[in-house]
Amino acid sequence: MVTSDQFKAHCEGVLARIREACVRSGRDPASVRLLPVTKTHPVEAALLAYGFGLRAVGENRVQEAAQKRLLAPADLRWELIGHLQSNKAKHALQAFDVIQSVDSPELATRLGRLAGEMGLRREVLLQVNSGDDPAKFGCDLADAPRLLEAALAQPALVVQGLMAIAPLSDDPAVADRTFAELRLCRDTLAARFGVALPELSMGMSGDLESAVAAGSTCVRVGSALFGSRPSA
Ligand SMILES: *Cc1c(COP(=O)(O)O)cnc(C)c1O
Repeated sequence: MVTSDQFKAHCEGVLARIREACVRSGRDPASVRLLPVTKTHPVEAALLAYGFGLRAVGENRVQEAAQKRLLAPADLRWELIGHLQSNKAKHALQAFDVIQSVDSPELATRLGRLAGEMGLRREVLLQVNSGDDPAKFGCDLADAPRLLEAALAQPALVVQGLMAIAPLSDDPAVADRTFAELRLCRDTLAARFGVALPELSMGMSGDLESAVAAGSTCVRVGSALFGSRPSA
């Protein structure tokens, strides 16, 4: 785990990177949110982020987040950024305020139905595999309209936008292309369905500049804040 001083320095460094990327593309730095990704780290990582004024963290496993959440301030928001198995949908709705990884019409329908039964409303993002990466979850670009249609049919879900992960690659053009495709997908869906879809969750430690240039509103950053993760 990083110390509090190390975390503060890392955080200032990442915020400066976001700011500079915004300046280069003529964007307002306030339009990009930093989501610290605390997966695999102890709850202290989330508490460090909270102490620095950040009010949301990203996690990729339901059980892990549910346990940490018990030990964290009640006004810290928890966002699911990892693949969700449908048999864990109910627990995910309990453990998370936001689900960024809704990746199939079936999952959207199930989450919406369960949230309704539980008397909850949940913000969601639709994960799209805009980098066409066989190793990544997310619906295919071609299936995004069907996924959005299913999510919009659920009154208990508030569809805020789209999420994508760039394929691992040494070529920065791969991330550029992935993020440009996600933005185009969002613009196309927003026009076709007449909805706003303001959120574009894209960019991580290694590619956040590219994502900000392409219009990211949420960068999900783990290792640049908390150091490398113990291999899971
Ligand atoms: C782990 C993870 C991140 C953070 O990755 P870093 O490279 O450590 O910044 C972002 N998004 C998702 C979906 C992740 O699983």
